Amino acid sequence: MANQEEVFKKVISHAKEYGFVVQSSEIYDGLSAVYDYAQNGAELKKNIREYWWKAMVQLNQNIVGIDAAIFMHPTTWKASGHVDAFNDPLIDNKDSKKRYRADVLIEDHVAKIEAKIEKEVKKAAKRFGEAFDKEQFLGTNQRVLEYQEKAEAILKRMGKSLENEDLEDVKNLIEELGIVCPLSGSRNWTDVKQFNLMFGTKLGATADSAMDLYLRPETAQGIFVNFLNVQKSGRMKIPFGIAQVGKAFRNEIVARQFIFRMREFEQMEMQFFIAPGTQQEWYKKWKENRMKWHLSLGMGEENYRFHDHEKLAHYADAAADIEFRFPFGFKELEGIHSRTDFDLANHEKYSGKKLQYFDPEQNKSYVPYVVETSIGLDRMFLAVLSHAYEEETLENNSTRVVLRIPAVLAPVKAAVLPLVKKDGLPEIAKKIVEDLRWEFNISYDEKDAVGRRYRRQDAVGTPLCITVDHDTLQDNTVTVRYRDSMEQKRVAIAELTSIIKSEVDMKHWLHKMDTA
Ligand code: ATP
Repeated sequence: MANQEEVFKKVISHAKEYGFVVQSSEIYDGLSAVYDYAQNGAELKKNIREYWWKAMVQLNQNIVGIDAAIFMHPTTWKASGHVDAFNDPLIDNKDSKKRYRADVLIEDHVAKIEAKIEKEVKKAAKRFGEAFDKEQFLGTNQRVLEYQEKAEAILKRMGKSLENEDLEDVKNLIEELGIVCPLSGSRNWTDVKQFNLMFGTKLGATADSAMDLYLRPETAQGIFVNFLNVQKSGRMKIPFGIAQVGKAFRNEIVARQFIFRMREFEQMEMQFFIAPGTQQEWYKKWKENRMKWHLSLGMGEENYRFHDHEKLAHYADAAADIEFRFPFGFKELEGIHSRTDFDLANHEKYSGKKLQYFDPEQNKSYVPYVVETSIGLDRMFLAVLSHAYEEETLENNSTRVVLRIPAVLAPVKAAVLPLVKKDGLPEIAKKIVEDLRWEFNISYDEKDAVGRRYRRQDAVGTPLCITVDHDTLQDNTVTVRYRDSMEQKRVAIAELTSIIKSEVDMKHWLHKMDTA
């Protein structure tokens, strides 16, 4: 674990040094849990966004995308339940004066129990060798079963107490489990209190006419209030979906772990409108579909898992997370929620407008049910970046830092490098850049020895380097070097477009969803 923490620190400093992510307003010492994306980060983020949008909107006939405003009528948040229920239970440690989310403290405790299970599995796998059957072991080993039971009981009790707003019991649970403050090591806790996560602001110039507003804490509500507009103007037939990417704001109690938990972040959400009664089926389908999207990026099946919720949000009748193995452990990357008709029915109630769909097949009107997929763009960025980071020891015992970013998402697709800064090589290299940049994000670099330039490109995850040398003058060929294998091959300049395309083409990557 210590090792992983080290790696995570390195990822964060690499992100800054190579123009991916920096603290917001850094010259004023930054703003807590707010970050800016620098030149390479902005490209990577844009590519992830596009990969999601294409998979969601372009490839699905029955899903359309919108772009709603961040400011919304304040009644929206009454109807959605956020004014009353978008709270996190907070608890302070009296000795360290540190503030925690009570549910996170408990979940971390459970994660430790789960880690013990994993340890038992590893031990047994070693002992039994080839004959080891993991499923059987998990289902029969006494110690493992006890751990599992314990973990489940804790989560169940927490879920129930939170649902019943029984904050006293949440505190009791923390005390009974002997959870200590990670900083002070003490069990000297305050009571658990609810804290609303929405940021307030005002609209209007004069104090008395100003209207209290919230910065949206999720993008979903912008979709719900537009349900009828889109359904009618697009003549959409159920089942259909509305997708959106945009900023959301949450005054998180504990904002740590870099861009994993931010106060200003971006969400990629899709609300899928369905007939009541079909939610189980669609919930299952969307869970599968979203996992396929993740797997298509080739970041390793073993790094993802589903986590079904015990503690359901105020709007959900079923919910699961897709968790990813971040350097600090398996954590939520995306949520898939069956939201019933909670949102639309409440907007009907609060707005007095009918938000129904006439179903010609059933010959009746109803408020549709909704299955939602919701992923944090920044969190996905962190998944990609932390997974990509590698310090590789090479054959000659030197090391290189390489970002093995899926080529389709890489900020720069290829770098063109003249071997030397003379003899007409820069001119040819620049001409190649001119030709390729219509289709791909290409960079040009002529400074330092070519080996150093390769390293610089490895460090930002550029999949291909194209080197122009003296042979190029004779035969119009160049050397193409691959980031991951460092393999080099000689190709004709005329082939470059198709070579780059075969590595980075979105179509080719998205097709992997079919076989994932
Ligand atoms: P958590 O339990 O981690 O607070 P959540 O369950 O409240 O998250 P949702 O409301 O389901 O999260 O939001 C959907 C997605 O938005 C999450 O899966 C995550 O990827 C992203 N997200 C939520 N809060 C943040 C945040 N503060 N910073 C970055 N991404 C976030």
